[in-house]
Amino acid sequence: MDRRSFLKTSAAGTAALAAVSVLPGCNGSEKKSRKASGVELNISFQEGTAPGDDLSQKLDFMESLGVTGFEPGGRGLSDRVDEIKAALNGRNIKVSAICAGFKGFILAEDPAVKELFDTTMREIIVAAGELGSTGVIMVPAFNAQTPCKPHTLETRDYLCEELRKLGDFALEHGTTVILEPLNRKEAFYMRLVADAAAIARDSGSKGVKAMGDFWHMQEETSDYGALMSAGKEYLQHIHIASRGNRKMPGEDGELDVYTDGFRALKEIGYDKYVSFECGLAGEDRAAAVTNAVNLLRKQWTEA
Ligand code: MG
Repeated sequence: MDRRSFLKTSAAGTAALAAVSVLPGCNGSEKKSRKASGVELNISFQEGTAPGDDLSQKLDFMESLGVTGFEPGGRGLSDRVDEIKAALNGRNIKVSAICAGFKGFILAEDPAVKELFDTTMREIIVAAGELGSTGVIMVPAFNAQTPCKPHTLETRDYLCEELRKLGDFALEHGTTVILEPLNRKEAFYMRLVADAAAIARDSGSKGVKAMGDFWHMQEETSDYGALMSAGKEYLQHIHIASRGNRKMPGEDGELDVYTDGFRALKEIGYDKYVSFECGLAGEDRAAAVTNAVNLLRKQWTEA
């Protein structure tokens, strides 16, 4: 290509780009209408997040902040169904998701460990259904869980098949199982939101879903791209924490930007929960939690 034809091609390219920028869906007014679509930020807390001596005090605090979701741990959940139902009765707070709590793991080589997973996970799923939870969060295998099936194509097929059975069981109980990708230090097997969503899809069960955790999403190249890739069909839950040290959102200052991910959630019309899963850097839990909620609401509006 000589310089003359190169310039010609470049000019055509520039014109094409200019045309694309005014196509419907790519201009500013479309973005504005998405912003005005009224997708709400539903905030949820795990049990340790709010200050308070007991569950009732914690829920009082959550209500005062307008927090509408509660994410209990799954351990011993079937014995807590009545307690949790009674505590939520008359409040504007629902169970968002159940955080793991099962024993064993789904990719265990040892049949006894796999059996332990199947039994305890199903027990939690039944309780989750009774509590109206969106799902039960699970990780296929933490790095420390051994012996684990090798990271091969056959194992992925096995995982999808086992998840199909689990997902269908969850659907029968009015809930789902939610795959949580973690960062490579915790679970190399599944790190990306898109990968979790693809495994959910390939399971063939509508009862298998995926989630994103803004802490673990340090693995992603784009918060927006990661959450968009799962989309409304697969995205069932979100975890949030500060982005430097996994403390309360806002405690890592300028690092704690969630607008890129929030924009994706607004654009897909995400109607589930954004749930706090984090520690506390400061001394004053009530102040840090309040600041965090205000920060997320501000960024949601800006997104
Ligand atoms: Mg998490």
